[in-house]
Amino acid sequence: MRKFFIFLITMFVIMPAHALSVVNDTEVEKLLHKLITPVAVAADIPENRLKIHIVNDDSFNAFVTGGEDVFVYTGLLTRIKNPNALQAVVAHELGHMVGGHIAQMSARMDAEMKRAMVIQALGIGLVVAGGNPSLGAGVLAGAGGIAKQSMLSFSRDEERIADELAVDLMVRANINPEGLIIVFEQMRDLIGAAESKMNKNNTNHPLTNERLKNTREKIKNIKHSGKYKTYSDSEYELARAKLIGYLYQERRILDKYPYRDSSDAAVYARTIGNMRGGALDSALVGIKTLIKHNPDNPYYYELLGDIEYQLGHYDDSVNAYEKALEFDNNAPQIQTALALVLAERDKPGDKERGVELCKTSLLISPAPLTYWVLAKLYDDGREFWALAEFYNMNNDIKKAKKFAKKAQQKLNKDTPEYIKSGDILEK
Ligand SMILES: [Zn+2]
Repeated sequence: MRKFFIFLITMFVIMPAHALSVVNDTEVEKLLHKLITPVAVAADIPENRLKIHIVNDDSFNAFVTGGEDVFVYTGLLTRIKNPNALQAVVAHELGHMVGGHIAQMSARMDAEMKRAMVIQALGIGLVVAGGNPSLGAGVLAGAGGIAKQSMLSFSRDEERIADELAVDLMVRANINPEGLIIVFEQMRDLIGAAESKMNKNNTNHPLTNERLKNTREKIKNIKHSGKYKTYSDSEYELARAKLIGYLYQERRILDKYPYRDSSDAAVYARTIGNMRGGALDSALVGIKTLIKHNPDNPYYYELLGDIEYQLGHYDDSVNAYEKALEFDNNAPQIQTALALVLAERDKPGDKERGVELCKTSLLISPAPLTYWVLAKLYDDGREFWALAEFYNMNNDIKKAKKFAKKAQQKLNKDTPEYIKSGDILEK
């Protein structure tokens, strides 16, 4: 548990009260990009502008702000039936954008949101894995409240329009609009009972049955030639299992994936649960089984690297992460994790390789954690600059300046780190 323990401590130290807790994980992020990009492009969001954020909150929810930020809640990802249904939820939210409903959202909310987003996430494997799912709850209250308010601002008419636009967007993206039907059926199952008891005025979405009926009508009249593109269920199942393995308590993991379930997704979730619970030998057996089933999955090697690290097997851990990067070299969280193990192993060449990995990781996706690892790798004054960046990203300007000052005392004036420390001092 050493690595996770360290990160938990840093998380407690650095998380300000109103941070929006965001999950960073290469496997889940890549899958979401694959699923959401076509819908976003259909809504005229250029692919390179689209930003997808995974919010660590158990609500069945998603929303869109401004023109290009899509927020998907872990509570949606872990519950939604299949990739097509997820696409439909996002299409509906983008429908609010296309329909101009979002523009009416208050500017205050946008600013709040952006401020919250500054508190960048760390990897789920790296932080949430501490096995304390309640950790995020208090942290989320602020941002969650904002999000819910924005949802409430949509009228019944706007919801109907967003549903219609969702169907149009999906058809334009060559995605089966029946996904929206799946969502409503699922919503009916999830909240149907509660909704019927509620005062009609208290629910911002029109009654689910009505939406279901309207959407069925709408789809009936669609003319679409050829076949819709399909998306892999098994990939989705694995990403979902990963989130559940990291975010749920052991009991809930076993409710969802009991031992009799021998699917890869179930083994994946239980393996992560075992690792979090410290049952490292069982975790090792689990991950080796998965690798036997699919020896090309980079994220299996990522998990193997995590487990070996916690067993204290640094060499095996390094080998596993390197293997993961062979299959996916565009994986900032894996690069950072490997750099951390290298920093601790400290064999000849390890620190150099670690620095190189951190630099690549920062280029792809700047994260405070990577600066923190970088600070462990340097010992020539640049570690103070890295810590300054770490605190700066976490909005702790006072500490950031303290370390930037220290860095400037140690570093040559013409080094990039000296200059970057100056930028922080000017804040
Ligand atoms: Zn809506």
